[in-house]
Amino acid sequence: MMEDGSIPAENGTDRDGSALIFLGTGCSSAVPNAMCLIQKSDSPCHVCSQSLSIPPERNPNYRGNTSLLIDYCSSDGNHNYIQIDVGKTFREQVLRWFTLHNIPQVDSIILTHEHADAVLGLDDIRSVQPFSPTNDIDPTPIFVSQYAMDSLAVKFPYLVQKKLKEGQEVRRVAQLDWRVIEEDCEKPFVASGLLFTPLPVMHGEDYVCLGFLFGEKSRVAYISDVSRFLPSTEYVISKSGGGQLDLLILDTLYKTGSHNTHLCFPQTLETIKRLGPKRALLIGMTHEFDHHKDNEFLEEWSKREGISVKLAHDGLRVPIDL
Ligand SMILES: [Zn+2]
Ligand SMILES: [Zn+2]
Repeated sequence: MMEDGSIPAENGTDRDGSALIFLGTGCSSAVPNAMCLIQKSDSPCHVCSQSLSIPPERNPNYRGNTSLLIDYCSSDGNHNYIQIDVGKTFREQVLRWFTLHNIPQVDSIILTHEHADAVLGLDDIRSVQPFSPTNDIDPTPIFVSQYAMDSLAVKFPYLVQKKLKEGQEVRRVAQLDWRVIEEDCEKPFVASGLLFTPLPVMHGEDYVCLGFLFGEKSRVAYISDVSRFLPSTEYVISKSGGGQLDLLILDTLYKTGSHNTHLCFPQTLETIKRLGPKRALLIGMTHEFDHHKDNEFLEEWSKREGISVKLAHDGLRVPIDL
């Protein structure tokens, strides 16, 4: 990103090699926070007010629901596009970032869990699929846990239903090929040619969410919703255990304090020190985070601790060898 916060135009034209594209880096309610804009205040929220004067493309404090697009370039030079999570802001993210980064399609989908900010855009998957009024297209593989699958069958029965009922009209809906994955670090799976290891983590003490480890040449872990690490998962992604990560993408909700279902900034930084990756990018932030200001703090922290840590931002493209 440029000093003024804009994203260089050539970002979208470099198509050699693999890259990670951060489609969203915000919390469930996204940033700006609507209340900060609709309620008058003597001391308006600086971060949210920016969205009224700076277009999202140049505003790193404008954050959609957490989502990552992996542009995977295999050894034959073919690009496959793997989308992690399809949240409430999916359509907006497609319009904004698929266009900027020349993403022509989604080849497979992986879901971390079935909360609204991870799945409520699934209806709009049809907008990135070929048009067929009779739904006669190749379905997009979608990888989910059994728990998420059961919940999605209730939320979106028409996306799960295989055959039309007697007398039911055909209506155009997203075509998905559901594949159930295990909540187990020992049970990897392949999506669009890339191997993924599920990383079960606690997202509140009553709920298991999945992160994912992927990449052969670079080890990348993506963990968007976590309040506590299970020892078996922590081992797989820690420098002292399964091996040092080249890049850790990690949840951080609030600047201070703690939260029952997410890590907040102090715990996120502690976790990074414990896991010891080469670098880390943070996602899932509320409006408490001010991109430039907090990245200045993190620059100092990174020097002191010897691990590069930054806040990611929507639209960020990170070239990486996978
Ligand atoms: Zn605000
Ligand atoms: Zn969640």
